[in-house]
Amino acid sequence: MLRAYKTEIRPTEEQIILIHKTIGTCRYVYNLYLQKNKEAHEATSSFLSGYDFSKWLNNEHATQDEFAWIKEVPSKAVKQAIMNADAAYKRFFKKLSSSPRSKRKSDYGSFYLVGTIHVKRHLIQLPKLGKVKLKEKGYIPFDGVKSATVSREGNRYFVSVLVEEPSRVVRKHGQTDGIGIDMGIKELLFDSDGNTVANINRSNQIIKLTRILKRQQRKLSRRVKGSENFKKQKVIVQRLHRRIKNLKTDLKRKTVLEIVKRNPQFVTIEHLDVKGMMKNRKLSNAFQQIGIGHFVDWLKVKCLEYEIGLRQVDRFYPSSQMCSSCGSRKKMPLHVRTYDCDDCGNSLDRDLNAAINLKNSKEYTVLV
Ligand SMILES: [Zn+2]
Repeated sequence: MLRAYKTEIRPTEEQIILIHKTIGTCRYVYNLYLQKNKEAHEATSSFLSGYDFSKWLNNEHATQDEFAWIKEVPSKAVKQAIMNADAAYKRFFKKLSSSPRSKRKSDYGSFYLVGTIHVKRHLIQLPKLGKVKLKEKGYIPFDGVKSATVSREGNRYFVSVLVEEPSRVVRKHGQTDGIGIDMGIKELLFDSDGNTVANINRSNQIIKLTRILKRQQRKLSRRVKGSENFKKQKVIVQRLHRRIKNLKTDLKRKTVLEIVKRNPQFVTIEHLDVKGMMKNRKLSNAFQQIGIGHFVDWLKVKCLEYEIGLRQVDRFYPSSQMCSSCGSRKKMPLHVRTYDCDDCGNSLDRDLNAAINLKNSKEYTVLV
């Protein structure tokens, strides 16, 4: 099943020039095809197919020095522009539409790309354009991208990709209740069923690798900057950084998969008030190390795929300071690990209490 994802991109000045040039070239080629067809029709009542035009364009027209710029833009984009004009003519001949009109110059336009397309959280790598920054991180799935359309809308730029996705997971009967997820320091996650997901920074593998990294970094600091030994050591350190990063990503994705596989009706997470968290150094450090933003991005992608609602409570929702049993409130400093309710006598682990409150929240923003 193919699905389209459209999102804004932040191209560099250089990339913007190439985007404008490609849109302009596609418009030129589209219009030239219409003109050539008109001439062919008037001269011999014949139709010039997109295929024949393409051959003429590449072998005769664009080989002239004055039209060399046609070959400076992605060839797949030019090819698609011709196919579009060809299709417009065929619709006209079948009397499905009026005679195709030439495209006028404007601030709007697009072109199509196929080929090697790689997606990362923050960028998309496109043929000829190279790595282009994505405005919304983590929205486009990393795997299965088949093609991309780059478009310009005034001074904004977008990419729309077609992604081959496995058909939707068939909903099992007896979908379980919702799940509330509290994100903590000690454990990465604590859900309303009482399950914890251990903080990945505490996994044995990560601890071991981090120790090795520290040792290798110390070694690097003793090397003479710029020397051969320094360069060699730097590669070792970079490789370790990458391994740790990949391992963390892997663990986060596994965690998300475990959550969605439980088939909940919805998942509710807390508001990640990053600014507020930065005031608390200990907390902000922990969150940065875990990469909680990445985790939420991936949760969005998977909830979409598994058709699970993803909810986020308001930043002022008192998930930690409210009794999940009777609703009364009290201050809960970070070091207090148990919620002991003075009103109903309920006593519950701090994180579990918060997770249950998140699950029960009636006010939330729907993320997915
Ligand atoms: Zn209570």
